Amino acid sequence: MPNTKHAISFFENVNRNFDRAAQFTSYPQGLLEQIKGCNSVYSFQFPVRTSKGLQVLRGWRVEHSYHKLPVKGGIRYSAMVDEDEVKALAALMTYKCAVVDVPFGGAKGAIKFNPKEYTETDVEVITRRYTTELIRKNYIGPGVDVPAPDYGSGSREMAWIADTYSTFYPGKIDALACVTGKPVAEGGVRGRTEATGRGIFYGLQEACDNAEDMKKLGLTRGLSGKRVVVQGLGNVGYHAAKFCQEGGAVIVAFAEYEGAIYDPKGLDVDAVVKHRKETGSILRFPGAKDLGHSLEALELDCDILIPAALEEQITEENSPRVKAKIIGEGANGPTTVGAEEILLKKNVMVVPDMFLNAGGVTVSYFEWLKNLSHVRFGRMDKRFEHSAFDKILHAVEQTTGKSFTETERTAITKGADEIDLVNSGLEETMTGAYNQIREILKSDTRIPDLRTAAFLNAINKIATAYMELGIFP
Ligand code: GLU
Repeated sequence: MPNTKHAISFFENVNRNFDRAAQFTSYPQGLLEQIKGCNSVYSFQFPVRTSKGLQVLRGWRVEHSYHKLPVKGGIRYSAMVDEDEVKALAALMTYKCAVVDVPFGGAKGAIKFNPKEYTETDVEVITRRYTTELIRKNYIGPGVDVPAPDYGSGSREMAWIADTYSTFYPGKIDALACVTGKPVAEGGVRGRTEATGRGIFYGLQEACDNAEDMKKLGLTRGLSGKRVVVQGLGNVGYHAAKFCQEGGAVIVAFAEYEGAIYDPKGLDVDAVVKHRKETGSILRFPGAKDLGHSLEALELDCDILIPAALEEQITEENSPRVKAKIIGEGANGPTTVGAEEILLKKNVMVVPDMFLNAGGVTVSYFEWLKNLSHVRFGRMDKRFEHSAFDKILHAVEQTTGKSFTETERTAITKGADEIDLVNSGLEETMTGAYNQIREILKSDTRIPDLRTAAFLNAINKIATAYMELGIFP
């Protein structure tokens, strides 16, 4: 996805949004500065022997805020990454965790390389080497700093990180909690892979459920029937599109590196993925129109636009042409500050990243809890629930004289599995967090938008945590 560089850096963008919200508080300047800045920035280089020969790679781990420990955030594998980007993403993690009440500070890591240009063994060696650098400086550990997947990395890399860490700390009982997003067979939790996309769906569903807000945008209540454009068909974009489609939305366009496809009648998400796998491109999908330039998709006529690729995609340049009524930020930082001002004037509702894509870290929190408790969710209560529901059914049958069919009985008496509990916790978190932000927005007419309300909510929570620590009066 073309990522145009702008006059204001990504971290500066985040800080301008922070400042806009901080105006509505009366915290001392020192406290606000403490919240805003990065507490610790570790930048390093390391040599690795790859199939391309001996190489020296650059890595970072930025720990943004120690108001709560451990700090938490993904590791980005990208040839485009720089220190400013990692700082911005680490800061967003702090605010994100606060918004969804996940008790972590924020962090982010990166390795500057394109994993697609390396063999699997190379990626493994690089990942393990990067992990040892984190261990060396105490930038990883269950109570210190817990990485996760991000752009360019996934569960496979997290398994290597967990294994490397465990090798350095044999017998450490909570070692698996040093990283989240692991495969289920290696200490992961069910539902983590699709969590960010599912969270986006829950968040948008809740936003669209408010008839009053929808009326202001000229839309009807409910996600069902809304026309959605998705930028990015990676883990986040794919799952967001899939769950929105299942929830009744119509996916009218997809944008990727190679271009975009558009069909106002709706695209079947899995069929598009299959087509891309077979042909190497989303273009020439049967029945859809090809758009030559990928970024054109952002300007299509639709109700909801979900940028789920990289930062700084909706800019001052293209935002005047954006026709969506709602922007659902799946990626981190896809809308620049300048663009947001333009969108606000056009009465566009921006559902901000730090809330909308927080499903990933929320389920990471559940995984971390699972690792620390050493027990699968549902193991203690599933059968107990099943037999309790069964007894209720028997009692109903006896009083009514009617009996349930076997299919009905199975559906009603099922106890909750791990995946049911994870999804339920995620839905509760996303709907609760949305309503907190919306209430803040409604409480003061001077607060311009949901992003400012989300920042304000985060600042209040982090400031309270600092005050509880006794660091600030
Ligand atoms: N990289 C993801 C994010 O940006 C997930 C972070 C995590 O699970 O710690 O939110």
